[in-house]
Amino acid sequence: MTGVFGTREERSEEGGVVADGRAASGRSVDSTPVDVLAWRGTQVGRAEVQRVLPQRRRRLLGAWCFVDYLAPLAVDEIRGLDVAPHPHVGLQTLTWLMCGEALHRDSLGTEQVLRPGALNLMTAGCGVAHSEEASPRYRGELRGLQLWIAQPEATRHAPPAFGHVEQVPIVELGSSRASVLIGTLAGVGSPLSAATPLVGADLRLAPGCLDLPLEPGYEHGLLVVDGAIAVGDRVVSAGEMALWAPGTDGVRLETREAARCLLLGGEPFGESVLMWWNYVARSRAEILEADLSWRARDGRFGAVASPLAPVVAPTPPFS
Ligand code: MN
Repeated sequence: MTGVFGTREERSEEGGVVADGRAASGRSVDSTPVDVLAWRGTQVGRAEVQRVLPQRRRRLLGAWCFVDYLAPLAVDEIRGLDVAPHPHVGLQTLTWLMCGEALHRDSLGTEQVLRPGALNLMTAGCGVAHSEEASPRYRGELRGLQLWIAQPEATRHAPPAFGHVEQVPIVELGSSRASVLIGTLAGVGSPLSAATPLVGADLRLAPGCLDLPLEPGYEHGLLVVDGAIAVGDRVVSAGEMALWAPGTDGVRLETREAARCLLLGGEPFGESVLMWWNYVARSRAEILEADLSWRARDGRFGAVASPLAPVVAPTPPFS
């Protein structure tokens, strides 16, 4: 098999590939993904975001059920993300900034400025409301990711919670580095974990070749945010997410230029979820119940101390 960025001989020199097609470490070198998804643009608040999950042909990746990349957006002390108060049930929101600052407010009374290197993890459980606003003093470019994790039956009815980590751990992978947002990568664990085993990491790849260890019990996705990466026979470019099925214990990533990508993985979720708007549920009845509570302001979601007016929900298509 010929490497996408070079001949087999070239790869052999740099990566220790032996004749039977396995790396010197014993890891399979056929890193070709089973599928590649492309992101699609949509609007959230005043921001243009690129949505990777969910898609018609891919709803879940482990418990990851929603992946939004926030393209660079100019913000100042007045105009931020401007995502007005809105409700959630049955999911955790993980917010990670690559640059800029944002202010998170929620109905638990949290007011937390988020900066690169830090992480917000909000657990909705039976119901929470939050906003994402301008930080009081930052002006410049804002860029980042918002990810949702579906909560399993065991925890999804529990009360809401909010967690913040000021500096997530960084693992050196040769000359590349990864910030471990949640779960464990290459033996380095984040202080944050989820109710179902999963991993999330922000990889800054140096040019060259990296054997990235993966948890074989997980399904994985690698979203390229900047640059391009060759994996097996495919080149995955910015805006694409390569997918691997469980049973993969590692992939070989090759880059000519520095690249940045988000690794997500988790045990197959094993529960079928019904997602509508900001709710992750199991049935239409549950979604309609949440919808009624938000419209009636019956206290289920609490109130957010925000200058922005709460979002008016769209009408559920099955009401
Ligand atoms: Mn939200």
